[in-house]
Amino acid sequence: MAFPITRLRRLRQSEQLRSMVRETRLSPTSFVYPMFVCPGEGVRKEVGSMPGVFNLSVDEAVTEAQATHSLGVPAIILFGLPEKKDELATGAWADDGIVQQAARAIKREVPKLLIMGDVCLCEYMSHGHCGIVRAARSQSLGAAVASPPAVAADYEIVNDATLELLARTSVSLARAGVDIIAPSDMMDGRVGAIRDALDHAGLANTPILSYAAKFASAFYGPFREAADSTPQFGDRRSYQMDGANLREAMREIELDVQEGADMIMVKPAMPYLDVIAAARERFDLPLAAYQVSGEYAMIEAAARNNWIDRDRVMMESLVSIRRAGASIILTYYAKDAARLLA
Ligand SMILES: [Zn+2]
Repeated sequence: MAFPITRLRRLRQSEQLRSMVRETRLSPTSFVYPMFVCPGEGVRKEVGSMPGVFNLSVDEAVTEAQATHSLGVPAIILFGLPEKKDELATGAWADDGIVQQAARAIKREVPKLLIMGDVCLCEYMSHGHCGIVRAARSQSLGAAVASPPAVAADYEIVNDATLELLARTSVSLARAGVDIIAPSDMMDGRVGAIRDALDHAGLANTPILSYAAKFASAFYGPFREAADSTPQFGDRRSYQMDGANLREAMREIELDVQEGADMIMVKPAMPYLDVIAAARERFDLPLAAYQVSGEYAMIEAAARNNWIDRDRVMMESLVSIRRAGASIILTYYAKDAARLLA
């Protein structure tokens, strides 16, 4: 039946009608609020490139966690800024690590709030990479003379040795009260290694949310300021995914599922909505997406210039992620969006 019998505008006449036929709905229960915990007391330091996002000392993080929970947001994800960094990411897996301290304090004060722990080493490594760094093997004399090594050839991010530290970190976080372990490093085999370590530590019931398809993205820029995790040399393209690859993303997810991931994530969200949609189509696990710092910063910057309507763009961006198929959204807008939805 075509026009004039069919008129799609009939159902757009009023908000009541539009609401009745709305296909995608947002709820605060989908949101996860990321928080950056730092040493000290009474610290609430705004991140320059992310207005409204703060580095918080443990006591302030507890207050923020309470506020988040009271808005109906069910979960937070914790990132840490340690006192000291080293070559073994000690701060990531130490019992008194900054995220471990925050998890214990938040569990005590806001027991019903789910705590996710981001598992990566970059925030705790002096060089800012997500794995152990080793000087690359020296080339043969002939090859070295023919092509002097570029910077990228001078070092290697060691995969298998890194797994041990990731596993140790995961067990330590779970023991401190973290409910869900979320590895974001993109080393091969890390989900399996973490599952194995958790199970052997008597933590068989701790779920893993894998950052399964995490792309090497320029949209992470502001996060590196927030988490003080900029690599001191090189970049992350030898472990994070090439943004051009959808089929490889499916292989990454598939492997993580085989290794025991309970939930999967695509990161970033907006530039990779097609990847979210493809993952939804193909896999039956709960699917998360991370609306990253650059997505947030772009909206905030444009809004500050009065170039866009902040709240409407915020909600539209979240709806697009939900419509693409993600049922869990990690977003710096969790609290603001929850307020609007109330
Ligand atoms: Zn990392």
